[in-house]
Amino acid sequence: MICKIKIYLYKFISYDNVYSIVFEYSNFFFMCRFNKIMFYFELNNEIIFIFSNVLATKVIITFVYILLNKKMGEYKIMSLPRYITDINRITQIPEEEREKLSKITDKFVFRVNEYYLNLINWDDPEDPIKKLVIPNTHELSEEYGRWDASDEDTNYVVPGCQHKYKTTALLICSEVCGAYCRYCFRKRLFRNDVKEAMSDVEPGLDYISKTPEINNVLLTGGDPLILAARRLDMIFTRLREMDHVKIIRVGSKLPVFNPMAIYKNQELLDVIKKHSTPEKRIYIMAHVNHPRELTEEAYKCFEALHNAGAIVVNQTPVLKGINDDPVVLGELLDKLSWAGVTPYYFFINRPVRGNDDFVLTLEEAYNIVEGAKARTSGLGKRVRLSMSHTAGKLEILAIENGKAYLKFHQSRDGDYGKFIVLDCPKDAAWFDDLPGNKAYWEQPEKKTDDVVSVNEMKDMPEPRRPRRRQA
Ligand code: SF4
Repeated sequence: MICKIKIYLYKFISYDNVYSIVFEYSNFFFMCRFNKIMFYFELNNEIIFIFSNVLATKVIITFVYILLNKKMGEYKIMSLPRYITDINRITQIPEEEREKLSKITDKFVFRVNEYYLNLINWDDPEDPIKKLVIPNTHELSEEYGRWDASDEDTNYVVPGCQHKYKTTALLICSEVCGAYCRYCFRKRLFRNDVKEAMSDVEPGLDYISKTPEINNVLLTGGDPLILAARRLDMIFTRLREMDHVKIIRVGSKLPVFNPMAIYKNQELLDVIKKHSTPEKRIYIMAHVNHPRELTEEAYKCFEALHNAGAIVVNQTPVLKGINDDPVVLGELLDKLSWAGVTPYYFFINRPVRGNDDFVLTLEEAYNIVEGAKARTSGLGKRVRLSMSHTAGKLEILAIENGKAYLKFHQSRDGDYGKFIVLDCPKDAAWFDDLPGNKAYWEQPEKKTDDVVSVNEMKDMPEPRRPRRRQA
């Protein structure tokens, strides 16, 4: 009987000396994991049985097979990588270093998964994938940045909904991601003492329904594709009922953090298919930083999204130590455009607290991006280099001979298309660093006091609530 069960040995088999095997029967997936002394079964990442010897597991495999054969239950169980939130579980990092990093994870939340960990080359101390998700000691520097560097607190109109540009609204509807990027510009959302992402999207939907100039809604967070499919279905349905909302976008790094969570999730793909129509598509704003994230699984995920009718585009900041190389970024532009994923934005990373190890000057970022564009086709070159500043989205047209040539691509105050030339000191890394920038914007007022301003909170977040079970 057992031999009829299809067995997959996953790529992340060697993590923490634990091996994983996925059993598939029809649409059912069971995962068993084992090391030298233990053997246990999981359903949907929850351990359900633990055994101390292999013989006992044979009995269980047989039992499970019989259950499935009798078609008991209607569970669709996906074989997904497990999440790790305790840095001490990552034994590839020397113990002494882990102790130092634990202090950082008290301040900035940590989360990664086995699939993504397996992309790291642990033999390379400068590995870009490692730098992306493993904390670094620079994060504790109190000299650099603000928690909310582009004053998003002033964009909220009701809790969970930002309205900064005339035609665009943001629904901040998730505070969880497939892993946490160390450079994240919204890391404030993951603080225990901050509640900006709302599970109740009703006030936001209500505001959008009464604001006819909004034709474009971005679901963001956190990662909205982490939400249950039926929840996304509810949000999409409500937005599709509003005639004035034409574009729905979903910002997500799940296609590379955990692509299986998309391409194995038929319910989610069905929801996207239902709402991505020939007249009005769903856009997935993917977040691929480095070509090494484009694995076979990631390509499967893009294919599944394309087949569901979604348009997939990509945006990424240009980050020191991750993708600050024209060859790497050029390869990224090539591979994305070959796969039908439109390169959309390169960003200057916002000066957010804890992010100083990722900073490039404006001149460096501009030269890297131009070097990358020189290596790719016209399809790859569609990308724009921008800064999402409090004043608006500033496109960097050129940095040359000590001058920055900028244009308001989006503007809070309606200055769309305004062309700006300012002196650009060698070390300038943000719009605020350009002398004379203040002539082009004013610090905005908050529109609602219902949303907490993280910049006014103490630097060290409240301690986290104890978790019931660490991954
Ligand atoms: S996926 Fe996006 S929201 Fe989540 S940690 Fe990374 S940058 Fe931040």
